[in-house]
Amino acid sequence: MDNHYDSELSLRTLVSTPVQMTVRWLEQIGAEDLETVGGKGASLGELTNAGLPVPPGFVVTAGTYRRFIQEAGIERELFGAVNVDVEESSALAAAATRAQELILETPFPDAVHTEVLEAYRELGENAFVAVRSSATAEDLPDASFAGQQDTYLNVTEEDLLTKIRQCWASLFTQRAIYYRNEQGFDHETVNIAVVVQQMVDADKSGVMFTSHPSTGESTMILEAAWGLGEAVVSGAVSPDNYVVSRTEGVLDVTVADKKVFHERDAETGETVEREVAAYKRDKRVLATSEIDRLVDLGERVENHYGTPQDVEWAIVGADIYMLQSRPITTIDADTTSQSGGVRTADGSGTTAEPPAAESDSDGEVLVDGLGSSPGTVSGGAKIIRKLDDLAKVAEGDIIVTEMTMPDMVPAMKRAVGIITDEGGMTSHAAIVSRELGVPAVVGTTKATEMLTDGQQVTLDGERGVVMAGATVDSETEYEPVESVRPQSPVKPMTATEVKVNVSIPEAAERAAATGADGVGLLRLEHMILSSGKTPEHFIETEGVDAYVEELVSGIRRVAEEFYPRPVRVRTLDAPTDEFRQLAGGEDEPVEHNPMLGYRGIRRSLNRPDVFAHELEALRRLFEMGYDNVEVMFPLITDAEELLQAKALLAEAGIDPDKRKWGVMIETPAAALGIESLAKTGIDFASFGTNDLTQYTLALDRNNEHVAGGFDELHPSVLRLIGDVIESCREHGVDTSICGQAGSKPEMVTVLVNDGISSISANIDAVRDVQHEVKRVEQKLLLESIR
Ligand code: PEP
Ligand code: MG
Repeated sequence: MDNHYDSELSLRTLVSTPVQMTVRWLEQIGAEDLETVGGKGASLGELTNAGLPVPPGFVVTAGTYRRFIQEAGIERELFGAVNVDVEESSALAAAATRAQELILETPFPDAVHTEVLEAYRELGENAFVAVRSSATAEDLPDASFAGQQDTYLNVTEEDLLTKIRQCWASLFTQRAIYYRNEQGFDHETVNIAVVVQQMVDADKSGVMFTSHPSTGESTMILEAAWGLGEAVVSGAVSPDNYVVSRTEGVLDVTVADKKVFHERDAETGETVEREVAAYKRDKRVLATSEIDRLVDLGERVENHYGTPQDVEWAIVGADIYMLQSRPITTIDADTTSQSGGVRTADGSGTTAEPPAAESDSDGEVLVDGLGSSPGTVSGGAKIIRKLDDLAKVAEGDIIVTEMTMPDMVPAMKRAVGIITDEGGMTSHAAIVSRELGVPAVVGTTKATEMLTDGQQVTLDGERGVVMAGATVDSETEYEPVESVRPQSPVKPMTATEVKVNVSIPEAAERAAATGADGVGLLRLEHMILSSGKTPEHFIETEGVDAYVEELVSGIRRVAEEFYPRPVRVRTLDAPTDEFRQLAGGEDEPVEHNPMLGYRGIRRSLNRPDVFAHELEALRRLFEMGYDNVEVMFPLITDAEELLQAKALLAEAGIDPDKRKWGVMIETPAAALGIESLAKTGIDFASFGTNDLTQYTLALDRNNEHVAGGFDELHPSVLRLIGDVIESCREHGVDTSICGQAGSKPEMVTVLVNDGISSISANIDAVRDVQHEVKRVEQKLLLESIR
């Protein structure tokens, strides 16, 4: 759909005093014009004026938008329409519709109309242009306003004014209105500019890091592929890689097998993906002379800004264009010298490093279990036998309990560590502690008996042991968000997407900081369970609207944080023994084997009335503009179940042909029946290896007595996975993994070799998985050319 222009999808906004000037050419713009032309416009103007080759264009200024709403006389009605209680989703929906109608249906003032078209015609007779919203992110984080409708490619005169108007209207999507409200920004003072720039029909394109992205050395790194740059940016193709020394020239070239390229279709003007002609597939994209010219441009832009830059470029015939330049901000001279830090109860100072075991922590081992969330911490044990005990957990304590429950999350956040008697690596305690970045040892069988309240202990979440005494002491405090942020400024460019799992909305920021390509699994049940009520009891006591709103707000937090990266929301799946501990739990059926019982899609299809509310929450999110949301059904065994779920999706007003939806492969039945599942129209299949392993090996994943045998890499599990990937590739269905095993390097190697489309890992594993995927992909490439 988009091309390289689009890698920074952003609708930025301006809070400024508008200047009465309809359009300004890029040559007339400098960094100081940010308020009038927005961030994108100012940066393109700056490059143009530095003499760098930027495709020609102009900006419809922020003042023009303001003039439009004032002269057309829609100001009062527009701002009146958006003055609603944004927590009421129907009022918010109506407000957005009305505001957008006003902008889209009100004619342009004549003068504006004429001036914009005159400027456009100067770009050429029937020129193809890109139309993009442009604003400053100074006050309003741009990601929160990003929308897919705010960048339009291959626009011609016919549609130009409409597209500009659509950029303006995107100030009033439900997401944007909601966000401004939340942040306390006044709708009336927000302005927006629009960049109109000539499209470049690139023969080849790519990115250039003017200094080494990890070390900051002056070596330049170039990536290049055929056609428009979107193929590189979107990961549709693995690009060639060139390492260039400014003094010694090209040091290293890796030529990739470039199967596809993107170009503009001559007839429709749309961007399309085509196969690369056989003779060009493994041909080197950049000639040495082109590399020299790019390096020269790279040096000029780096000198201009005074800092290393990440540049998008394109080549058409003999011309090189710079499409965008951004600073590489995270080259950090200290990254190599940082010492391991620890999380302490009263720490001062911070570190991004995960807590590490101290070499002298040789206290007596009191209990051991599974190290489920890495880090070593010391603190006072707090034995939690019932929910009332949670109040006694203070900052810096270590929670010791039989098994954590969703409504313990606030206390888990206060704690420095967690120890449980029960549970395996995929239990609630393990999942949540990893997401919060709190070290944990699970499945010790007897910690609540062996440890005493107030006892000082040290927990090693890597090795899975709990020792006597407080052996960890540090000046520094652990920073969970910083600890997962990629340390190299650009994440490794991988063809296999690397996503992240999220279970609690509070972890959204930490998850997004990893730079993951999206959320591969958002577990819905944690949102409901943290209310302390079963879904049925919640609805009974608080009403349907409150239930739907609870889901909407939890999902929105994650969808917003990641927008426009995709977020795969899984419908409810919790076993009855988890529900039983909550209010209303007495109505849950008593089951001998809850893991084999009333859970996942079975429960949803049995209670379509309750399920409908989950789907309604998703429908509202789509309506609000969260088109990055995808729907995933758990614990499917056959196509009949899946078709029933699909029908309910459609009944809830979510068009399965328009929205992305798919299935979890968690049962051997689903894996063996993949052919028929693929034919239901799914977009993706995602391996839930926690369940797939327990059902294939007949081994309860939460039973600490058999945890030693829980092996996701068992040949039978791998065989099921391999066969599903092969079959899905034949049917054009994407494959993914969202079980715990996606965080294990050995599994990553197998899956990338098998041809999986994406891998979703735990927050703290994303960085390693990105590198592992890159390594395996490069090895595959090398092998294919040797
Ligand atoms: C799985 O089964 O691997 C999975 C991701 O789902 P859950 O752990 O929530 O059952
Ligand atoms: Mg599962």
